[in-house]
Amino acid sequence: MAHDAPQATGASKLVIRNIGLLLSGAMEKPILDADTVVAENGRITAIGKAKDVDTAGATTTVDAMGTTVAPGLIDSHVHPVAGDWTPRQNQLGWIDSFLHGGVTTMISAGEVHMPGRPRDVVGLKAMAIFAQRAFWTLRPGGVKVHAGAPVIECEMVEEDFRELAAAGVKLLGEVGLGGVKDGPTARKMVAWARKYGIQSTIHTGGPSIPGSGLIGADVVLEADTDVVGHINGGHTALPDNEIRCICEGCKRGLELVHNGNERSALFTLRTAREMGDLSRIILGTDSPAGSGVQPLGILRMVSLLSSLGDVPAEIAFCFATGNTARMRELDCGLIEVGRSADFVIMDKAQHSPGKTILDSVQLGDLPGIGMTIIDGIVRTTRSRNTPPATKVPEIVGH
Ligand SMILES: [Zn+2]
Repeated sequence: MAHDAPQATGASKLVIRNIGLLLSGAMEKPILDADTVVAENGRITAIGKAKDVDTAGATTTVDAMGTTVAPGLIDSHVHPVAGDWTPRQNQLGWIDSFLHGGVTTMISAGEVHMPGRPRDVVGLKAMAIFAQRAFWTLRPGGVKVHAGAPVIECEMVEEDFRELAAAGVKLLGEVGLGGVKDGPTARKMVAWARKYGIQSTIHTGGPSIPGSGLIGADVVLEADTDVVGHINGGHTALPDNEIRCICEGCKRGLELVHNGNERSALFTLRTAREMGDLSRIILGTDSPAGSGVQPLGILRMVSLLSSLGDVPAEIAFCFATGNTARMRELDCGLIEVGRSADFVIMDKAQHSPGKTILDSVQLGDLPGIGMTIIDGIVRTTRSRNTPPATKVPEIVGH
């Protein structure tokens, strides 16, 4: 396993040239008129036509061979435990496999599969701080795993949230997976979390595995978390009228997950579109889980929503990149000067009937990944997991 992925050392300059299609990740302008991206020391410094940008002194040059460059994909809902291992399906190397599905950043919705997970306040705080530290240091394959997401319990007091924030914890695990399942208590604790800069999410819908519970629209709206976690259920979704009630009753993020109800995901998408609120849609896998581990889960969601939800593919990619980055206040997810140089380079899969990569996704196919880059460093070349890309980029200079 590539546990000790190289970090950027010394000055570096990455040039990606000969880009056929540049997806920005931003819904207001999803396609950029540029064929070259330059990144120095892990940050994007220039985007434009080759003749207009300074490519001199590159330490790495990638010829995109006319393929598509997009921001690295963000999985807004994962359940990591320790290292690149998940006990839920007893699988090794799952994070590295997701990198081969284009995912360069992951957000923990709680390290709930930890064997013997402590539920007392001191224990759950210690575990959250440990997970935050461990995953920030580890980065399997280079993937940025934002972990350390405690699952709240009724005995917690405001001081606990202040202490967690001071220790570097920035996320809450899904509200509802612990002892707090009622609206008033959830609302009080979510507000404490927000006061100290900790983002929150909630388990929406029926129980996911024995031991978790039902969280309906009334509790979701009262808790007022920053993200409505898996609004399409994990896997059991709420009735459509309750989903609509949530969409209309708040302005928070609407997270659609792979390990949820696909029909409900499409219902949510249609509702958000009717409201002119597609910028609230973000994507996750909710894995590892009982439904398994999906290295291509985010790509599959992009393709599902584009093909069956009638969303242009370039917009569906924004759900998995810029929308999530903005909602989660991440420094990646957009092709923009100053952003983290995290990219996925893709092409139409071999033998897809689509005329272009975007057309192929709108027809329900997955793109083929030819390269991933994190912090300006090439992490993988041709994906071992996607269907093979028609054309793949090449490293032409070091
Ligand atoms: Zn859940």
